[in-house]
Amino acid sequence: MGLAVAWLALAGLGACIDIPNGTPLPGSTAPAPPAYVADTVPPPVILVSIDGARADLIDRGQTSTLAALAADGVRAVSMRPSFPSLTFPNHYTLVTGLTPDHHGIVNNTMEDAELGSFTMGDQAAVSDARWWNQATPLWVSVQEQGRHSATVFWPGSQAPIQGIRPDHWLPFDAKVTPDQRVDTLLGWLDLPGDQRPTFFALYFDQPDHIEREEGPTAAVQIDKALARLVDGLKRRDLFDKVNLVIVADHGMTATAPDRQVVLDDLADAAALHVVATGPLAGLSVAPGRSDVEARLLGRHDHMECWRKSDLPARFRYGANARVPAILCLADDGWVVTTRANLEKHKDKPAPLGDHGYDNASPAMRALFVAHGPAFRHGAVVPEFPNLDVYPLLVRLLSIEGERNDGHVEDVLPMLQPGY
Ligand SMILES: [Zn+2]
Repeated sequence: MGLAVAWLALAGLGACIDIPNGTPLPGSTAPAPPAYVADTVPPPVILVSIDGARADLIDRGQTSTLAALAADGVRAVSMRPSFPSLTFPNHYTLVTGLTPDHHGIVNNTMEDAELGSFTMGDQAAVSDARWWNQATPLWVSVQEQGRHSATVFWPGSQAPIQGIRPDHWLPFDAKVTPDQRVDTLLGWLDLPGDQRPTFFALYFDQPDHIEREEGPTAAVQIDKALARLVDGLKRRDLFDKVNLVIVADHGMTATAPDRQVVLDDLADAAALHVVATGPLAGLSVAPGRSDVEARLLGRHDHMECWRKSDLPARFRYGANARVPAILCLADDGWVVTTRANLEKHKDKPAPLGDHGYDNASPAMRALFVAHGPAFRHGAVVPEFPNLDVYPLLVRLLSIEGERNDGHVEDVLPMLQPGY
C-alpha cells in the first residue's frame, strides 16, 4: 500500500502543477518514495495556525518555543497571504491551495445570490457546506483516501464539505483556551493506531483578538500552548516523528480612530449597498447611479476603488460571483467605513490593529515555521505564497491532492533529501 500511495502522491503532484503524470518534476529528478513509505501510515502532520501572527513575531523575544522549533527546523523569512488578507479566505487557502477567487470564501463577510449572507460569527452560515463546496479541503481528501483527520476550530471544519466532516471536530468556542485546544489534539493522538488521525489542524485565534485589546501578551500565551504541544509529543515519543507546520493567516498593522475613510463623504450613501467594511470594503451601486460609481472609482486620499474586473492582476481576485461589484482598498493603517457602520459600533472600542490590506504589504506578512523528520534543520527559506502550503502538506501526507494554485517546487528547498 505504501508504494502505491507514494506514486499516487507523485501523480497528484504532477496534476497540481500542470505537468503530465509521470513527467519528472523540475528539480526532483529522482522521484524515490520517501523513507517513511515503509510504514503503513505516514507520520502524522499537525498544521497549526496562529491568527494574525506576523512574520516578525518570532523576533520579538517572547516566543521561545517557536524560536526553538525554527532553530531545529525551518522558518520562512515570511509567507505571503492571499488577497484579501483576511482570516477565513486565507484559512481556506491554506487547506485547499486555491486563491479565494477559486475556493469561494472570498471574504469574512460576503453575500451569495442563492445563499444570502455569510459572517464569521453566524454559526448556521459557517456550518452550511454550500458556502464551502467550491473547493475540497485537505481533510476531506485524507478521509476519502482511507485515513483519519481531526480539527480544532479550523474555519470550515464544522461544515460537511463535499458531504464529509473531519472524523474529529468541534464547534467553534472562543472560550476554549489554547492549552485546552492542545490537550484535545493530544487526546486524539492517543487513539488506537487504526483510528489515529494522520492529519490534524489546530487553530489559535487569540492574537488577532487579544492584541487589539490587551497588547502583545497573547503571543506568550500561544507560545506556552505550543510548549505544551511539544512536551506532549515528547512524552509520547512522537516529537521527532511528527511533521509540525505552524502558520499564520496574515499579519497585522496598527490602526487608529482618526484613520477612517467614510464612504458617505464621497458618494450618496443611499445609492450604496455595502457588503463589507474595513481595510477592504466591498459594495455595489444602485442601478442607474453611474454618477455614484464614477465618484467612487479611482484613487482617493488613503483609499483606491476598482470595479471587480479591473483589480490589479496580482491580487488574483474578482472573478468569483461572490466578490462585490466594487472593491475599495484602504492604505495600510486606514479603514473604509460608512456612517451607519460607525453608528452601529459607536459603543465598541476601536480596534488597535487590523488586516485585509494589500497582500504584498510588509505588515501583512505571515509567520511560517516547520519542524519534523521531513524538514531541514536550521534552514531559513525566502518568502513564498501561502498557496504552496497545500501541496507541501499533500507531499508530507503522501496522498493524492486536488488540483490547486500552489507550486510544491517553491517549498522543496525546506525539505530533507528524499522528501
Ligand atoms: Zn485572522
